[in-house]
Amino acid sequence: MMPSYRTIDALDAAGKRVLIRVDLNVPVQNGKVTDATRIMKTAPTIAELASRGAKVIVLSHFGRPKGARVPAMSLKPLTEPLSDALDGRHVTFADDCIGDTAARVVASLGDGDVALLENVRFHDGEEANDAGFARALATLGDAYVNDAFSAAHRAHASTARLASLLPSYAGRLMAAELQALERVLEKPERPLVAVVGGAKVSTKIELLGNLIGKVDTLVLGGGMANTFLNATGLEVGKSLCERDLADLACDIIARAKHERCTLLLPSDVVIAREFKAGAPTETVAINAMPRDAMILDIGPRTIKAIVDVLEQSRTVLWNGPLGAFEVPPFDRGTVAAARAVAELTERKKLVSVAGGGDTVAALGHAGVIDQFSYVSTAGGAFLEWLEGKTLPGVAALGP
Ligand code: AMP
Repeated sequence: MMPSYRTIDALDAAGKRVLIRVDLNVPVQNGKVTDATRIMKTAPTIAELASRGAKVIVLSHFGRPKGARVPAMSLKPLTEPLSDALDGRHVTFADDCIGDTAARVVASLGDGDVALLENVRFHDGEEANDAGFARALATLGDAYVNDAFSAAHRAHASTARLASLLPSYAGRLMAAELQALERVLEKPERPLVAVVGGAKVSTKIELLGNLIGKVDTLVLGGGMANTFLNATGLEVGKSLCERDLADLACDIIARAKHERCTLLLPSDVVIAREFKAGAPTETVAINAMPRDAMILDIGPRTIKAIVDVLEQSRTVLWNGPLGAFEVPPFDRGTVAAARAVAELTERKKLVSVAGGGDTVAALGHAGVIDQFSYVSTAGGAFLEWLEGKTLPGVAALGP
C-alpha cells in the first residue's frame, strides 16, 4: 500500500530554510554531464520553492565514495548544470554538507536563493542512516522535501532519517512518480498488462512473483523469456538462458495459471549465429530453433500478439527490452511494441508507465519517451517498488 504523504502544497515555504534531497547522480564524462534528465526533472521543484521565497538547500549523493572525500565524486561540477536547469538562477556551492562550512553558506542565503551542498556520501553517517549525521543536516533547515524517488529504496540519513527530524514533504517529482506507480498497480484501469523483458530472470524473480498476482496479462520477452521457453522443453540453442532456473520458471508458470494471469511468451523469434550488428538473421517459429543459433529478438508474429493484447488493455507497465536492442536489427521488436504503446497512449486508449534499468534507454532508442504517460527516472527504486517492497524513503514521508 502506498503510504500517505504531504506534498509541498502543504509547505508554507516563504522565508523558510528548506532542505531538499534530490538525485544529481547523473552520468558525467570528462567533467561534462552526458544525460541531464534527472536534473531537469527535479529542477521545477527547486525553482518553485525558490520562487515561493524559500532558502533552498539542495542535498544529493554522487557515486559511491563510501564515507570518504573523493574529489572525483564532488558535486561541485554539478553547480553549473543545476543553475542551467534553473534557467540561470545562481547556485552557491558549499564544500561540505554539514558543519561550519555548510552553516556559513546557508546563513548567507536570502529568500529565493539556492545552495548546493557537497556529496552527502562523503560522510559515512549517510549510508549508515546515522542519527547524529541526520541531526547535523537537520540543523541547517526548517523543513525537509524529498524529491529523490530514485534514491528512496535506500534507508539513508538524507533519504529516511532526516524525514523524522523535520516537517517533511514530497517534492513534485517524487509525487509524480508515486502517482504514476499508484495508477498502474494500486488502482489501475483494467485490463492491466505488464511487459517484462531484459536479460535475466534471476534479477527479476521477486518482480515476476509480485506482478503475477496483480496483472491480467504478463508479456515476457528478451533474454529472460528464453529461460521460460527452455523450462517448457523447447530448444533455445546458444541463446542467453538460465537453465538452472527451469524449476523456478515452471513454478512461475503454474502460479500464473492459478492467479488467472495470462502469460504471453514468444511464438516466433529472430535468431543469428553471431551477436553483432548486421549479422545475417532468420525468423523461426519457437519450436524450430536450430541448436547453433541465438535468440536475439522477438519475431513478427509475437509482435502482433503483443500489439493485440495492448489494444485490448487499458493500462500497461513496461520494464526491460524485448530483445538485444542496442545492436540492430535486434531492436525491432522493442521498437515496434514501444511505438504501439506510444500510439495507443496518444489516442488515450492506454495509460502507460515504464521504468527501471535499461528501459529508459530502450524507449529513448524507440523515440517514444515523451509519448508514454510516465517514464520513471528511477532504476533500483522502480524495480523494488514493482517487487512490492516498501521503499524507506517513501515510508519516511508518511505520518
Ligand atoms: P535488464 O537490465 O535486465 O533489463 O536487461 C537489459 C539487457 O538485456 C539489454 O542490454 C539487452 O541487450 C539484453 N537482452 C534483451 N534480450 C536479449 C536476448 N534475447 N539475448 C541477449 N540479451 C538480451
